[in-house]
Amino acid sequence: MCGIVGYIGKEQAAPILLEGLSRLEYRGYDSAGIAVRENSAPDAKINIVKAKGRLKALLEKTDCGRSVPGLCGIGHTRWATHGEPNDTNSHPHISEDGKIALVHNGIIENYMELRQYLQEKGVHFTSETDSEVVAQLLDHFYKETGSILDALYMVLHR
Ligand code: GLU
Repeated sequence: MCGIVGYIGKEQAAPILLEGLSRLEYRGYDSAGIAVRENSAPDAKINIVKAKGRLKALLEKTDCGRSVPGLCGIGHTRWATHGEPNDTNSHPHISEDGKIALVHNGIIENYMELRQYLQEKGVHFTSETDSEVVAQLLDHFYKETGSILDALYMVLHR
């Protein structure tokens, strides 16, 4: 079962996310990743680092979190159901424009249908997961409505 951690506050997020993920290791996983927002500006970059295998690989890739600065982030340990365990399929997933990052636990039963709907609208997918469709769909409806809350309701409805 996957593990999910989130942090927003006054401390650097990445080391806290990694510590949180280490406490969830007992649940089992095949890969791990974090997404951290660089700052609080509306156009702030979200940096994502992912690694297949043990959390140790992610700690090494991020210099124990030091190479991913920012005060707000999410982390995930994945247990693959859709798409092989690799860096690309690891979470977090991000919308095409880099604005919405997401981690997910479980299975999106109708993801193929949703993926096809978005692909017909020109959205490009990078992973084989069911989860990525949620990030892309959120972005799609956010652009349509201008409200992240409305977009969230629309995604949940589907
Ligand atoms: N179905 C998702 C995937 O394969 C989430 C798996 C999980 O819960 O870790 O990426």
